[in-house]
Order: sequence, then C-alpha cells, then structure tokens
Amino acid sequence: MEVDDLYRRLDAHYSVEDWWPAESPWEIMVGAILVQQTNWESVAGVLEALRSRGLLDVDAIDELPQEELEAILRPTGFFRQKAKNIKAMASYLRAHHRSDPMHLLCQDTEAARRELLSLPGIGNETADVILLFAGGKPCFIAAAYVSRVLGRTGMLDSGDYQEVKGLMESCLEPDPAKYARFYALLVQHARTTCRSRPKCDACVLSSECAFSSGRGTAGSRPLRRTSARR
Ligand code: SF4
Repeated sequence: MEVDDLYRRLDAHYSVEDWWPAESPWEIMVGAILVQQTNWESVAGVLEALRSRGLLDVDAIDELPQEELEAILRPTGFFRQKAKNIKAMASYLRAHHRSDPMHLLCQDTEAARRELLSLPGIGNETADVILLFAGGKPCFIAAAYVSRVLGRTGMLDSGDYQEVKGLMESCLEPDPAKYARFYALLVQHARTTCRSRPKCDACVLSSECAFSSGRGTAGSRPLRRTSARR
C-alpha cells in the first residue's frame, strides 16, 4: 500500500473535523505540553479551566505562581513538570519574542524548531505538533500511533521518529492542512481500530495489511519500505 492510498482509505472512513480545537497559537502550545502522557479529555478540561481564569495568555502564565498553575494542571498528570515547562515556554516567549508565539513560529521552520527543542519538555513530537498546528508549517508528526499503523501494514520497518517523519514528508506534498488531517486520521485509526489488540475484522485497511494477512506481527516490525515519490 502506498502512502496516498493509506490516506484515501482512512479519509473515506473516519471523521476528524476540529481535531485540535484552539483559539490561539499559545493555546496549542500549552495543549501540546499538557497532552503528553495523557488523553485529550483531561487536557480539554484543564484548557477550559485556564480559559475561564484568563490564563490562556503568555504574560499571565509567566506571572502566575508555579504552585497555582500546578493546582490547575493536576488532572493531566505529571502536573509539576508540565507547569514548570509551560512557565519556561511563557518566560522564553516573553523574553525573546514579545510574548507572541507567532513571532517565534513565523521564522524559517528549522530555526523555529531549534528554538522549540531548546526548551524543557519539548522533544521532536511536541515540536512538530506546535510547528504544524500552531505555526502552519509542513512538519509531519511521527507519533507512536503513526509508527504502529505503518509498521503493521508493512509500509515501514522503523520505530525511529526521524525515519517515520522522513518517509511521510517524502511521500506527500508539503501541505500543512493535509499533514494535520492525515495525522488525525492515523491517530483516530490507531485509537479505535488498530489498537494494541487490533480489530482487523472491522478495519478498512485489512485487505492490504501485512499483519491482517498473516505476513506481519502485532508489534511495529513490518516488512518493507515503500518507495518515496520525490
Ligand atoms: S488490518 Fe489490523 S493490523 Fe492492519 S491496520 Fe487494520 S487493525 Fe491494524
């Protein structure tokens, strides 16, 4: 199966409208930290709590005492570390980008990525979430769910973040809207069907899937690498 075919099949099957609802780039940056190691439901509640207190604002977060932020973030887990990382992000934006996330994100993609990766709590995946959803940059998010689907279907034998990201970006035109939708489709598929224990009988990919046809395993160790189109 080629990458385009994977997209078409998932897009015909799942609805992923309003995948990452947010009113500002800063809200997306905060959400990208909060969603680490938890589910979106707990993040949505915390974002609403921040909104209702007027705290979805760079300066307001920078000025808020750490303990107060921790108390609000508690439902998302790892709340002390997340509070520290969000405050570090706010402090950095205030010091270097006039408290404006877009001042950072409007730079050349690699320059923006380097700055994001220099901040605590922001690794490759979180940086790509911010670059894509907040910055509108064509950066594919190679999350574990993406590796799982590519692995089981037999499209790419790798759990390496950069390799998975490289394959997707080499097979797709650099279209941020399509990257965002494709990522959402893959996550939706992995959460609902290609789960830890996959529901292959109900899967829209089963006719082309290495695992379903008995040629693959339930892990992420697939069979072959697809050829890139460019
Ligand atoms: S057929 Fe099974 S293993 Fe393959 S993508 Fe679908 S759910 Fe996953």
